[in-house]
Amino acid sequence: MSASNQPEGVGGGPLVDGPHDPEHDPRASYVLERDFVATLTGRVLATTGKTVTLVSPLDGAPLATIPQSSADDVAEAYRRARVAQAAWARTSMAERSAVMLRLHDLLMERMPDLLDMITLENGKARKHAYDEVVHTALTARYYARTSAKHMATERRGGVIPVATRIDINHVPKGVVGIISPWNYPLTMALSDGLPALMAGNAVVAKPDAQTMLTALMGVKLMDEAGFPKDLWQVVAGPGRELGTPMIDRSDYICFTGSTATGKLIAKQCAERLIGASLELGGKNPLLVLRDADVEKAAEGAVRASFSNAGQLCVSAERIFVADQVYDRFVERFVARTQAMTLGASLDWEVDMGPLISADQLETVNAHVDDAVEKGARVLTGGRARPDLAPYFYEPTILEGVSPDMTCFGHETFGPVVSIYRFHDESDAVARANDGEYGLNAAIFSQDGTRARAIARQVKCGTVNINEAFGATFGSVAAPMGGMRESGMGRRQGAEGIHRYTETQSVGTQRVVRLSPQFGLSSEQYAKVQVLGLKVLNKLGRA
Ligand code: NAD
Repeated sequence: MSASNQPEGVGGGPLVDGPHDPEHDPRASYVLERDFVATLTGRVLATTGKTVTLVSPLDGAPLATIPQSSADDVAEAYRRARVAQAAWARTSMAERSAVMLRLHDLLMERMPDLLDMITLENGKARKHAYDEVVHTALTARYYARTSAKHMATERRGGVIPVATRIDINHVPKGVVGIISPWNYPLTMALSDGLPALMAGNAVVAKPDAQTMLTALMGVKLMDEAGFPKDLWQVVAGPGRELGTPMIDRSDYICFTGSTATGKLIAKQCAERLIGASLELGGKNPLLVLRDADVEKAAEGAVRASFSNAGQLCVSAERIFVADQVYDRFVERFVARTQAMTLGASLDWEVDMGPLISADQLETVNAHVDDAVEKGARVLTGGRARPDLAPYFYEPTILEGVSPDMTCFGHETFGPVVSIYRFHDESDAVARANDGEYGLNAAIFSQDGTRARAIARQVKCGTVNINEAFGATFGSVAAPMGGMRESGMGRRQGAEGIHRYTETQSVGTQRVVRLSPQFGLSSEQYAKVQVLGLKVLNKLGRA
């Protein structure tokens, strides 16, 4: 779904909260109930009277109109969130966990509606929409069950054993701003915020304009689960307009999106000395080693390259294959790709759906055309399919891609993968590490020990062995994020909640004070201390 560039409703007319009326727009559909859309969009804090139309990438038909927020609305969202946060920070972990577990169950119960909405709005195949509903539920359950442990006060050794007691507290930051992209509209909009809430923060979220309804459905479920409404504020509008007012008022920013935008956000956060986690782009490598199970690798490569039409931050865009298995792998990979069911519908049978927007299609076309002009060979795909949907592009495998081609080092973020042969593994690792990104890698080998040793040499935040990306992404206890220009900070696991806290050390001095006593001079006191330090060293204390 893409948002039209020109906001509608300028001039203060009443908001149209439902799909367009077919009387006025023959492409309009009644696929979404007007009242249902109104309950969702009513959750956006917006007083401008402006709206933006969403268009479904399945068929190009208008789907709904979304009210747009101003910088003043953002300020009001933060004001309300701060009030709600003060009360929320006083709730017990047990109360927060109970609400979070209800959200988990609601996500399961409303799965069919969520899958419909994600596919209508984003275009992705239903099976890929399913992945993100499950990821959101896994995240809810993980933090419901583990936050008490992550947030518990820790005891550590003090400067004078026994006499100095140290307690480490994890204190909520306050209000977290979450700016999320359109590619995984439910999980990117919600999952990062769940640990923020468990840590005692409030959230102001700005989901991407192209996928607001999915994000709002997630927020509706949070309301139903029992989170206080003001705890999670939603604003809508262009990032370049709302980003700065958000950063100006946030105590922390969680951003997922492109590296270019991430760098702009990092600069603004630095000005205010607030922290940020930045989950950014990638040019992810997949390695097929000489001892790989070729069929398994080909199946994994299809999912790695074409899940959500390649619009996945952890997608493989470069595949390095050992000489010994190259021909067999390529034959199986191409055959499996050609057997994919392409379509633009809500059916489970679809293996790949359309791209989300004309912009995405333009980038994919440009990358493939440039590569072909400069001599790359198309093993399969390589063309748009407007007969299937307005922004459809076939899953595409390229061979003979060289450094002068745009798709060699730049993220395409579409269903296009380049395949390269290698002779020795150290060369493959060096080529995989080439470039500025470092998000995700995959390695296929029947020797797990050897593959894990190679993984340590790969400069990526996650490495999946005999799996495309799901082993790490789905394991929500495992931290996830990018090295180098793929980001800063980690989501998931203990790291995913601790980023939203300040660490506070409380030292309590007992019995012996940290200054001369018992009639000792400063010199005598120093000598006693030196003796003590030597004893502690002998005892092997840290
Ligand atoms: P984008 O950076 O254009 O937009 C992402 C979000 O940032 C949107 O909500 C947008 O409105 C907002 N935004 C845009 N300009 C802004 C500004 N100046 N200030 C504040 N906010 C602004 O990215 P995109 O094209 O929508 O998303 C695709 C990119 O996201 C790809 O590069 C992909 O790899 C990356 N991504 C990364 C991850 C990850 O976990 N590492 C996950 C999903 C997507």
